[in-house]
Amino acid sequence: MTLGSEGNYSYQWSNTGNFVGGKGWSTGSSSRVIGYNAGNYSPSGNSYLTLYGWSTNPLVEYYVVDSWGSWRPPGGTAVGTVTSDGGTYQLYRTLREDEPSIIGRATFYQYWSVRTSKRSTGTNNNITFQNHVNAWANQGWNLGTHNYQVMATEGYESSGSSNVTVWESGNNPNPNPNPNPGTYTIVVRARGTSGSENIRVTVGGTQVDSYTASTSMSNRTINTSATGGINVEFINDASGRDVQVDYIQVNGSTRQAENQSNNTGVYQNGSCGGSNSEWMHCSGYIGFSGNTGSMSVEASDQNQKGDREIIVSTIPEEDVLSEEMLFPNPVKDVLNVSIPSTSNASYGTVIYNTNGVVAKKFTVQDGNNTVNVSELPAGTYIMKITMGNKTVTKKFIK
Ligand code: CA
Ligand code: CA
Repeated sequence: MTLGSEGNYSYQWSNTGNFVGGKGWSTGSSSRVIGYNAGNYSPSGNSYLTLYGWSTNPLVEYYVVDSWGSWRPPGGTAVGTVTSDGGTYQLYRTLREDEPSIIGRATFYQYWSVRTSKRSTGTNNNITFQNHVNAWANQGWNLGTHNYQVMATEGYESSGSSNVTVWESGNNPNPNPNPNPGTYTIVVRARGTSGSENIRVTVGGTQVDSYTASTSMSNRTINTSATGGINVEFINDASGRDVQVDYIQVNGSTRQAENQSNNTGVYQNGSCGGSNSEWMHCSGYIGFSGNTGSMSVEASDQNQKGDREIIVSTIPEEDVLSEEMLFPNPVKDVLNVSIPSTSNASYGTVIYNTNGVVAKKFTVQDGNNTVNVSELPAGTYIMKITMGNKTVTKKFIK
């Protein structure tokens, strides 16, 4: 966690256990209107962007969840809803038995308000906490004496990054409107064979970092607002010097070096230059796709049977199916696919497993569709819907 000025903080996490942290108030308040702006919230895996706090007498841990990663918490059945700050939140209560708390191990309730759709990032948002407190009280769920209250980022066995500025609405009418707009966090995971290899990173042709490699695989984190293709360069080849790049991550999304087609530093077929390798034996670079609002879906044809379609697509972020369009996720038997359009069109749809094997092909129509996926083995899948010249891609878990 990096503490910025005033109410700003940022996180960069990678394959963590469970953590939660944020900025806010040492003493919470039911009547507080919390203002915040998540200039970046890019989880990969399980994560929440949430107002978070505790009370004692009774001991309660509470969440007002505005956004999340692959899984919308807390599971189970909602007992009601509350409308607040332009959205609908569903209410849940979960019991924690003999679990860690602010007073040590204890048995206590968690109260939850969870938005039905993820809230936008890069905008000033309010959470009128009183609306949630009242909705919980209507269920007989009361808070006690307020302990701390923060606008938090939580992660669980996941990776990602966030950059959040928090303020008390009304007391700070002109907050920093957007912390670090357009900032990308790039992680380069690499090593050198001698420890004297110089690595340079460029984005769109601009150098954003330069460092000397360690001989053990290690992560280098770079924050930049530059956009364009990302090159990881090895610039001082000599006898005994080689560079191995495992992968890069852009805002938590991983791109493996060995999946990249442009590697001018690998020694292949008797000369420098080739593809699909983690290694640079000569001075050169590995070219990765750019960081302008895109994500990549990668698959491989490992056994070369030719029975699989390979998708390596770069799609605009706004084309990614939002969580509420594909639910529940994780799914057991029946997946709902909701297309928010009224043109009465139908679209070719393919489900792939993570090896790129086609698991199911069908069409979906505008509106709500139900898809029986009971026959699919447990695992991670990618659904690709072709809508005219646009491709919508979404990962789900069975
Ligand atoms: Ca790798
Ligand atoms: Ca070399």
